[in-house]
Amino acid sequence: MAKMFIGGESVDSLTKHVYEVRNPANGELVDTVPKGNAEDVRRAVDAADTAFKSWSETTAEARAKWLFKAVDLIHENIQELSVLLCHEQGKPVKEAVTEIDHFLHGLSFYAGLAAKLRGSYVPLPDNKMYGMVIKQPLGVCAAIVPWNFPITLMGTKVGPALATGNTVVVKPASSTPLTTIRIIELMAKAGMPNGVINVVTGPGGVVGEALIAHAKVRRVAFTGESKTGKHVMAVAGQDFKRITLELGGSDPMIVCDDAEIDKALTGAAVGRYFNCGQACLAVKRLFVFESVYDMFVSKLVDKVKKLKVGNGMSADTRIGPLHNEAQRAEIEEQVQDAVSRGARVIFGGKRPEGPGFEKGFFYLPTLLVDVPDNARVATEEVFGPALPIFKVKDLDEAIAKANSSIYGLGSSIWTKDLTRARRGAERLQAGNVWINSLHIGYDEMPFGGVKQSGIGREHGPEALEYYLETKGIVVAT
Ligand code: NDP
Repeated sequence: MAKMFIGGESVDSLTKHVYEVRNPANGELVDTVPKGNAEDVRRAVDAADTAFKSWSETTAEARAKWLFKAVDLIHENIQELSVLLCHEQGKPVKEAVTEIDHFLHGLSFYAGLAAKLRGSYVPLPDNKMYGMVIKQPLGVCAAIVPWNFPITLMGTKVGPALATGNTVVVKPASSTPLTTIRIIELMAKAGMPNGVINVVTGPGGVVGEALIAHAKVRRVAFTGESKTGKHVMAVAGQDFKRITLELGGSDPMIVCDDAEIDKALTGAAVGRYFNCGQACLAVKRLFVFESVYDMFVSKLVDKVKKLKVGNGMSADTRIGPLHNEAQRAEIEEQVQDAVSRGARVIFGGKRPEGPGFEKGFFYLPTLLVDVPDNARVATEEVFGPALPIFKVKDLDEAIAKANSSIYGLGSSIWTKDLTRARRGAERLQAGNVWINSLHIGYDEMPFGGVKQSGIGREHGPEALEYYLETKGIVVAT
């Protein structure tokens, strides 16, 4: 049985209650995990609060060294961790390796920045006085993580938090706690002081709720659905905790008439079907100029046909199962809704059949055309392998439709005309725009949303700001 990690120790919940984590590809039991409660959260926050006093005074260089050591240790175990991630999440092992690699890259990025932060000296009107601006860590940070990328999305919080001298309590999604626990055990093994990083497992409505309401938690970094994000903001706002919210998206991808077609096809196929379409920054609405529309759509069908659906443990699987039954039911309802409003399924649109598909939450990669603007696949987040394709006459129409969403996370424009691309990028209502490039979150670049896609930024040096408080000090000499 897996354990929570509190104050440097692997522990059960105080109640000793547990729950099961099952494999989305076949329903098999992966492991059991403690079902934590508010009392366990209090223990973890107290441990993190105690550790903060010395951790925040540890030199940035020492913190960086420890983070680099943790990176090496986790890397030595990447194969075993990737298989565990495949079992609990459903993603192909190859994608699991990529995810853990990305996590390690992010941790190294922030370890590298730790000792490079500085404040400033400020001349004042009276020359016998001067000011200093310093940056200080906040205290205990809560990292609340969803199930789609449990490891990278934990890293985008833990990396900048620890590098800047904060301590952390991680709350993984209930269905994907196992790899997180193993990784945090390894981080501790790398020599981190007790209480600097903790994990509490259990239901969001209990463990997450207790964390966001706890008075000693000074910062909440949340990734998840926009609906949960609204609630987190309301509760954490009660005592002015610092928050970042990385929420849902409905990323548009715009293919212009002069796009490099093969690259755009890869952009659409990888962008939509990576992680079985369960990515915040997945391509969720495809807009294609009418002059290249028929050719593009026909080539996309050919490409998507080749994506092998199956258990993530097979080397040739490109699309694993959806993460849970509710997720598959929602995709099915969204596709059905589009069809009932006049859309046509030109590929997929159903569950695969035959041996190996009996128990898992599988769904074929799906392409939809003639989709009306009021269909759910156009207005809601589609968190699975279904892609609605829209014909547009020009960039103005594509951008108007792209911006009609309540979301504004990522977006992309595919064209050889960089003037057109830049103009389009400025007009798209999104936190991120990729030009002729896959929707990928780079550790080096700030990432986050506008509108209902969230508040604040993760990734990049920009993320550090959200883990630091600015203090002004005036000195009279
Ligand atoms: P949820 O909002 O359901 O859950 C996210 C996390 O919040 C989980 O750990 C969950 O715990 C926890 N939680 C649930 N209720 C509460 C509560 N009342 N208080 C505190 N925490 C709570 O999201 P999903 O797990 O379904 O993740 C998918 C969503 O995440 C999609 O909308 C996706 O777009 C978005 N996302 C956004 C990203 C971004 O960077 N913008 C990146 C990746 C995903 P539990 O599992 O126990 O319910």
